[in-house]
Amino acid sequence: MSDSQTQHWQALGRDHLLPPFTDYKALNAKGTRIIERASGVYLWDSAGNQILDAMAGLWCVNVGYGREELVEAAARQMRELPYYNLFFQTAHPPALALAQAIAEIAPEGMNHVFFTGSGSEANDTVLRMVRHYWAIKGQPERKVIIGRWNGYHGSTVAGASLGGMKAMHGQGDCPIPGIEHIDQPYWYGEGGELDPDEFGVKVADQLERKILEVGADKVAAFIAEPIQGAGGVIIPPDSYWPRIRQIIDRYGILLIADEVICGFGRTGHWFGSDHFGNAPDLMPIAKGLTSGYLPMGGVIVRDEVVATLNEGGEFYHGFTYSGHPVAAAVALENLRILREERIIERVRDKTAPYLQARWRELADHPLVGEARGVGMLGALELVKNKKTRERFADPGAAMTCREHCFRNGLVMRAVGESMIISPPLVISEAEIDELIDKVTRCLDATARDVK
Ligand SMILES: *Cc1c(COP(=O)(O)O)cnc(C)c1O
Repeated sequence: MSDSQTQHWQALGRDHLLPPFTDYKALNAKGTRIIERASGVYLWDSAGNQILDAMAGLWCVNVGYGREELVEAAARQMRELPYYNLFFQTAHPPALALAQAIAEIAPEGMNHVFFTGSGSEANDTVLRMVRHYWAIKGQPERKVIIGRWNGYHGSTVAGASLGGMKAMHGQGDCPIPGIEHIDQPYWYGEGGELDPDEFGVKVADQLERKILEVGADKVAAFIAEPIQGAGGVIIPPDSYWPRIRQIIDRYGILLIADEVICGFGRTGHWFGSDHFGNAPDLMPIAKGLTSGYLPMGGVIVRDEVVATLNEGGEFYHGFTYSGHPVAAAVALENLRILREERIIERVRDKTAPYLQARWRELADHPLVGEARGVGMLGALELVKNKKTRERFADPGAAMTCREHCFRNGLVMRAVGESMIISPPLVISEAEIDELIDKVTRCLDATARDVK
């Protein structure tokens, strides 16, 4: 595509588009990057550059780009029944078949799904469903949901409130009442002198303190990502989830595991909750559910919660596109691909161990204080001094590194002073080698710039 065509698209962006999570003035001064097509793990921009997409879009293109089966599934369903709803005591085959397929892969005792259009809507659903659940049980004062600082649960009012992103809270009076936050299990950034497991127990115990502070009879649920994604691929120490589980059981509150990123194979298991064995009551899902080919989310619900909802009369909640037939048909086909091609097994047994071994080699780089990861997730902590974990002064090194990534045909994301990856699950060993080579080159270039 010619330069003038790219400039034309950029002008349209400036004149008409308000993109998400963007500093409009800064972007308009610079011009947006135009992505035109994609195949496998690669993107092509309007200047013809081939870019290795180490973020799988936004953590979602699990089966990779260009899967004709998903295109065909959508086209077939559009011809058969492009739209109908689940409101009026009606249903349609794609939503029913998908609900069954999700129940088959979900943890034991989780057999129902409430469909939404996105992960944020899933968390709005969770907020209302959990409070409704306790009201049915005769404990309507149990309203408070405890989340975590730097957790991410979406960008609607409920999502932003449940999440712990202070910058988001600062815009639009979030969190809404009835949401509390505790610290995240971010050992590298906040663990100080403690060893990881001591730190894991210490931050998990904040849940108990918060429950007692709020009043044990007022707390409805705890919400957390099994591994924090948008917060910077923060992997809790091994001691964390078992301790959280003990506290949940002690006070009888509900556990909500936000599986929007971890779900559908990201950790080498179907769900992050399988990886940690944390037995949640509700699991918001989205992203990898359709591999991002169409928007769809949902909440997978434990049988005991469903039994209570069954006693509560009408649940006055839902979306026009809950269980949308075309999205459901694509999700169903996406699950078939994941299952029949044994993609998650291959991640678990082969490609994730390879990625993680190669990723940890990056810890030898002078800029890298820690290289961590699980499954097809990874993070690098960029530091000035590895021993003291001292960071580079504002603006830091990560934004510089991200610019070098784009220049070197690689998409990695910068979160604070971490560089993070979440590649398509289908990435091959040769492509992982290419990824590591490119990351090394970008780290070298960054080191030259910040020194
Ligand atoms: C992306 C994300 C969401 C929000 O999903 P949307 O589809 O963007 O609304 C919620 N929770 C987690 C953990 C996410 O990563």
